[in-house]
Amino acid sequence: MNERAQSPSYAQREAPVPPAAGAQPDPIAPDCRDMDFYEADAGLKRLLDLYLEPALRDRLDPYFERLGRLAGAKLDELAAIADKHPPVLHARDRHGRDEDWIEYHPAYREMEQIAFGDFQFHAMSHRGVFGLDRPLPPVAKYVFQYLFVQAEFGLMCPISVTDTSIHLIRKFGGEELKTRLLPRMLAADLAALWKGSQFITEKTGGSDVGAIETVARGDGGAWRLFGEKWFCSHADADVALLLARPEGAPAGTAGLGLFALPRRLDDGRRNAYRIVRLKDKLGTRSMASGEIRLDGALAYPVGSLANGFKQMLDQVNLSRLSHGVRAAAMMRRCLNEALRAARGRTAFGGRVVNYPLMRRQLMKLMVPAEQALSMVLFAADAMGRAEAGSREAAQLLRLLTPLVKFRACRDNVAVATGAMEVRGGNGYIEDWVTARLVRDAHIGVLWEGTSNIVALDAVGPERGGSLTQGRERALSCRERGAAGVRGRAGSARRPPRAAEPHGARASARDRGSAGASNRALGEAGDRSCARRHAGAAASGARGACSVAGESLVAASMKRSENRPASPAAVALSNQHGTIQWCHELPARAIIIGVRFAASRSFNFLQFLQSGLSPVPETRWCGGILTPSPHLAFVW
Ligand SMILES: Cc1cc2nc3c(=O)[nH]c(=O)nc-3n(C[C@H](O)[C@H](O)[C@H](O)COP(=O)(O)OP(=O)(O)OC[C@H]3O[C@@H](n4cnc5c(N)ncnc54)[C@H](O)[C@@H]3O)c2cc1C
Repeated sequence: MNERAQSPSYAQREAPVPPAAGAQPDPIAPDCRDMDFYEADAGLKRLLDLYLEPALRDRLDPYFERLGRLAGAKLDELAAIADKHPPVLHARDRHGRDEDWIEYHPAYREMEQIAFGDFQFHAMSHRGVFGLDRPLPPVAKYVFQYLFVQAEFGLMCPISVTDTSIHLIRKFGGEELKTRLLPRMLAADLAALWKGSQFITEKTGGSDVGAIETVARGDGGAWRLFGEKWFCSHADADVALLLARPEGAPAGTAGLGLFALPRRLDDGRRNAYRIVRLKDKLGTRSMASGEIRLDGALAYPVGSLANGFKQMLDQVNLSRLSHGVRAAAMMRRCLNEALRAARGRTAFGGRVVNYPLMRRQLMKLMVPAEQALSMVLFAADAMGRAEAGSREAAQLLRLLTPLVKFRACRDNVAVATGAMEVRGGNGYIEDWVTARLVRDAHIGVLWEGTSNIVALDAVGPERGGSLTQGRERALSCRERGAAGVRGRAGSARRPPRAAEPHGARASARDRGSAGASNRALGEAGDRSCARRHAGAAASGARGACSVAGESLVAASMKRSENRPASPAAVALSNQHGTIQWCHELPARAIIIGVRFAASRSFNFLQFLQSGLSPVPETRWCGGILTPSPHLAFVW
């Protein structure tokens, strides 16, 4: 028995003993090494009170605690090493055979053991883990992802895509395919495990999936693939789900079939495709993304070949939600790092955390971080209810998924940069995690659809059309909005807004100093676009919508019932800022746009820290109203 087998798994192990606190004050501010990321996360715990059944919470808490401690210690060390030692592609084996293989640093392998072996993140939605006899609800799974990603981001791609590939095969695969793949993909023993991946993008088509050129040819009852995949994360996955066009099938997405591509054939030989090159990436450097050439590779059809694209969208949407979770996790890490840095650094005779401008800066990291966490758990809860059969929850999830992906991934870029700045010059140096967080943050706006594509997808079905039609309509709407922006570009002041009832209009000073001025032109275009797009539905809305993003507002407005703002929202408006818009969604969720007055920003930060609520019977979870539950979009 090897050493690994004798020792308890990381999921079972107790916390490492933290080093004794140093007696000497250090002029260099500390970082979050050895922080317990679960213990430190008051917002997460309050949200879990809302969303996780108490008995299950009791059962899972020890695992959350272990992962929280690991993420601040061992995992964090491994992640830093793996980032500095990215994978290397070898074209041949030592016998000169064309057996391409990827070499990983042992630190990456150890993280794989923690993720797939000890905690079994990939399997927890599909079978019992930790001695439980049933799969975990989505909220629990995403909390595990959230804690893990605070230390390591790159590996979450293979973890998540293995989980989502299993989902697709379970949902759409035939019995033979399930028998062939699922026992291997659900294994916890890394020697037996088949990890998954998803190869869609080609040179011709990332956003425009219908343009992909890979061909599937029938071969005596089997299918063989020819073509190239241009972006393949987890390039050496044991089984990849991909889209290819069966010969003779129509052009566009309608003609795409979904296939499972095994890396090895039944006799153990390598399947007929090659990893041609690994990408030299800005971030996610621990994980291998490559280019693949398919030379007649054997692939198994998944579900009906006529529905390939539609089926693949299940995986895309699951991945998008996971991207929201990852962004929330990285923002939490950024916030924790920034708070540690600000509290630990002295300048001009005082701790920098005590300077008002620094507190305002921290607030701007805190609000999107809390907002993203609240949103992803709300969406995860909707997913759980949708899986249990609620149509209303399914509709809500359909809207929340792109909202979360869009907003959280974009915010993550700004929050990571903000956290780097809080640490000062050291934040830019690769000795500190902030530099890696800045690099890693950017991929969120690309993976599983750029922000524009995600926005357009949100609008498609909402407007009763196909995904593609929705994209086209929203695009033309965006173009009209952009024309409006261009028309005003020369003006220093924005023109007065036509409809901002209930005192929704912030003063020019507030807009500027609350950080909105840099978005003002873009908002003007988006706002006019959203109004037109939502049509009559917008007319009864509480205020002009001006979330700094694309057509998503239109989608939420269309869904709204345009009821008056809740008392909680009104109180929020009175005390902390001005409500820009407020919409009630199904499942009693309210999306509220609030613009905080600059003079109130500092109060808001204090308010978050004290945990006091100005609104009776309303509990705040880090900036989010949660009794109903409510969501607040804050910018
Ligand atoms: C590190 C990395 C790893 C990746 N891993 C994978 C993977 O494992 N599997 C996989 O399948 N893919 C993967 N991708 C690909 C990724 O999903 C695509 O890069 C992304 O979807 C964008 O596609 P594209 O690069 O072709 O850009 P394009 O589609 O060419 O887009 C270029 C620009 O045009 C904009 N645009 C396009 N259409 C519209 C429109 N209708 N309206 C407005 N704007 C529009 C986009 O928003 C974007 O800004 C990976 C990418 C990276 C960088």
